[in-house]
Amino acid sequence: KGVSFTMKVILITGASSGIGYKAAIQLAKEGYKVYGGARRVERMQALTDFGITPLELDLTKPQSLKFAVDRIIEEEGHIDILVNNAGYGSYGAIENVDIEEAKRQFDVNIFGLARLVQLVLPHMRNQHSGRIINISSMAGRMTTFMGAWYHATKYALEAFSDALRMEIKPFGIDVVIVEPGGIKTDWGLIAADHLEESSQNSPYEEMGHATAKKLRREYTTGPLSKPDLIANTITKAVMSKRPRTR
Ligand code: NDP
Repeated sequence: KGVSFTMKVILITGASSGIGYKAAIQLAKEGYKVYGGARRVERMQALTDFGITPLELDLTKPQSLKFAVDRIIEEEGHIDILVNNAGYGSYGAIENVDIEEAKRQFDVNIFGLARLVQLVLPHMRNQHSGRIINISSMAGRMTTFMGAWYHATKYALEAFSDALRMEIKPFGIDVVIVEPGGIKTDWGLIAADHLEESSQNSPYEEMGHATAKKLRREYTTGPLSKPDLIANTITKAVMSKRPRTR
């Protein structure tokens, strides 16, 4: 079925917005066959102009991940690079954040990501090549006020990625971690909404409100870098012959 072994095939999650959207376009422009995954497929419609194939994918729904990987293998016969970019920050005081919401955040930022890794590895091992690029964060190495659960997911991702690198190196597969600082995307607005909501009518309301306001300001009018910066970093990590890993 039109199987192509010449073009390298990439699956990037979180392609409907921010960093993932820009990275998908850059990678397609560099000549890769890109599949972009996210829940909001309508937000990825414009990506088809660049030859990118949108896939409806929800990291909290393992079946949707299997469908996505199966479809890529059916259409391309191989998968060369997985960019685990999708993620969100559910800010709030530890006392306030519902454990179910904390679990959801781990489902997206860690368990869904891990399931995708499990699904692509058999193909990469057969090819004896491949690269997995995990978008962690500065938040995977330092903590910020009222961001406990987000940091917990990204710290977990750092450890997961370092352990994974050791395991799959013998199979010719690399693992790269990207750790962005603040980037002007919806990320900060989503984190602020969660923070505001979880702090309501609680002893943390005032500080929650002040922190959410600061986050919103930073992510709208603040001097943060644009997502293109990290899209460049991801593109370099994809194209590099010997990626810098630690
Ligand atoms: P955006 O909010 O702009 O994009 C997040 C992406 O994740 C969206 O495409 C969204 O798609 C996707 N996503 C969220 N939940 C799910 C889910 N359940 N299933 C599938 N996809 C999902 O944020 P960014 O572009 O900034 O974030 C990209 C990555 O960069 C994240 O991992 C984030 O933690 C990290 N990061 C961001 C920083 C920043 O300051 N912006 C700093 C450091 C790291 P949809 O909603 O359509 O499913």
